Amino acid sequence: MSLRLYNTLARQVEPFTPLAPPRVTMYTCGPTVWNYAHIGNFRTFLFEDLLRRYLAYLGYEVFQIMNLTDVDDRTIKAAREAGVPLARHVEPFVTAFFEDRDYLRIKPASIYPRATEHIAPMIELVGRLLDRGLAYRGEDGSIYYAVNRFPTYGRLSQIEKRELKAGARVASDEYAKEDVRDFALWKAASADDEAVGAAWDAPFGRGRPGWHLECSAMALSEVRKRFAVETLDLHAGGVDLIFPHHENEIAQSEGATGQPFVRCWLHGEFLTVEGTKMSKRFGNILTARDLREEGVDPAAVRMLIFSTHYRKQLAFSDRALSGAAEGIQGLGEFRDRLARAGAGAGPDAEAGSSLDADFRTAMDDDLNAPQAVAAVFSFVRRVNRELDAGARPSLAAGALAVFDRVMGVLDLTPTPKQAETELASWVEQRLAARQQARRSGDYGTADSIRAEMAARGVEIEDTPSGPRWKIRVG
Ligand code: AMP
Ligand code: ZN
Repeated sequence: MSLRLYNTLARQVEPFTPLAPPRVTMYTCGPTVWNYAHIGNFRTFLFEDLLRRYLAYLGYEVFQIMNLTDVDDRTIKAAREAGVPLARHVEPFVTAFFEDRDYLRIKPASIYPRATEHIAPMIELVGRLLDRGLAYRGEDGSIYYAVNRFPTYGRLSQIEKRELKAGARVASDEYAKEDVRDFALWKAASADDEAVGAAWDAPFGRGRPGWHLECSAMALSEVRKRFAVETLDLHAGGVDLIFPHHENEIAQSEGATGQPFVRCWLHGEFLTVEGTKMSKRFGNILTARDLREEGVDPAAVRMLIFSTHYRKQLAFSDRALSGAAEGIQGLGEFRDRLARAGAGAGPDAEAGSSLDADFRTAMDDDLNAPQAVAAVFSFVRRVNRELDAGARPSLAAGALAVFDRVMGVLDLTPTPKQAETELASWVEQRLAARQQARRSGDYGTADSIRAEMAARGVEIEDTPSGPRWKIRVG
């Protein structure tokens, strides 16, 4: 079996076939840095982290682009309300996003292009669309995409033309466009845009990019520059981006290049609270920093999110989170048991070799992480039985480490606390050997043990009630 993924464009699970293996190019729509990202946003980013880690596990060389939307309607509005320039408003949220990413152990993307630093390729893309007759200048001076001139519009979202046409005239730009379906590529600069420093000169007028244009331009310019192609292997985001964001990205990109924009589109379902999508506008958000401040183990958050398939809604609750934390605790205890049993004799625990196969079968099937998690728990039960029977855990420890490279839920480097416990037991054992040597008059051995301990920073003091030890400070 090899990896199969649900491609939104095909509406089915299909074999994943990158354009030029082992390379995989992947574009993931990043945060809009008008505010802190909430854990709904992070559910999507964690699904993308899982995807990317699993591709690496399979031996692919992943090039992941995650943009930062640092200019759009929301960021401008927020900067205006705060009374500061756009760049100043977004900066703390960019920093916070990276901190939250690290807290949740999300592997950094290869690059994080910022929209405001890619205005030139955006202007170029609008120029290409104007040249090809797919864009026009509206009565308000903005440049619009002419949807009716792109025949395959709607293929991704399968939105019926009928539905689109029926749309009421709701937006203020309705009268400036030729067709209600048309969307702005470049918005003529408004007084608000100018006030926060969100306007740039372009051959077709001063203005700012539309959000959909930003992603197309950054995705295309980055893969063209690096790999001389204009097609991406993967493009991912939450389901709310299918329409209109990704539909418009396809129209813009394919309209300009004439090439397929993306081979496989992946969309993650929502994280919900009491049945409602987590969203700032519903007032039901929880941020990653809220969790961190409450001392929540990031491993529990990862476990919670991976315990539901990415294409199913995930109902967030404190109970679900503590359930995941219990699972993590069980895995941590098992990991520690393996470490303690490491030196024991006996045959290798056999369950180890089967975990890898079960894990792969699950993940190959459209990233079935809940099944992979179930496989690891049944592995823990089997190995525990084998250890009870005196087996050596070497294979099991290796299998657990492989699982964790993808899931990132166990910290397999010892914590300071574990390191301290290990040092303490080593010291006790060396001190006993030294006492033994002294009692038998072997002062040479006793002195060399003292030196060995000193080399690890341990000082011994002989007192009438026996030796005492402490760690030398500084
Ligand atoms: P934004 O910062 O609003 O541009 O969104 C960043 C990402 O979070 C996008 O991929 C959205 O689809 C995703 N997203 C937003 N809300 C949720 C939610 N409640 N659950 C899962 N993903 C979400
Ligand atoms: Zn995007």
